[in-house]
Amino acid sequence: MSSNVGQNFPYASESEAQRAAAVEAALATFDGLRAKVEVETTPLEPDADRWWTYVCPKDDFTGRLHAAGYALERHGVYTVCDTCGSTFLR
Ligand SMILES: [Zn+2]
Repeated sequence: MSSNVGQNFPYASESEAQRAAAVEAALATFDGLRAKVEVETTPLEPDADRWWTYVCPKDDFTGRLHAAGYALERHGVYTVCDTCGSTFLR
């Protein structure tokens, strides 16, 4: 994968069920991540059947970023990495 692929590049889409499962797995894997997400986000409105995933820029592009909520004040979608547990605003 080329090195200029970053977090702004949509990688693929996933269903709501896939998104929810991936986020839950990440929250269960990384210590403190669930509490962090709860403090920093508001819940997603279930108005989309498909969600974009993104390539994580931190772990040699192996991780995928999944939408976990809206950043407070709705400045963006808050994503979590399924591989390293990093969080990013989209
Ligand atoms: Zn990552």
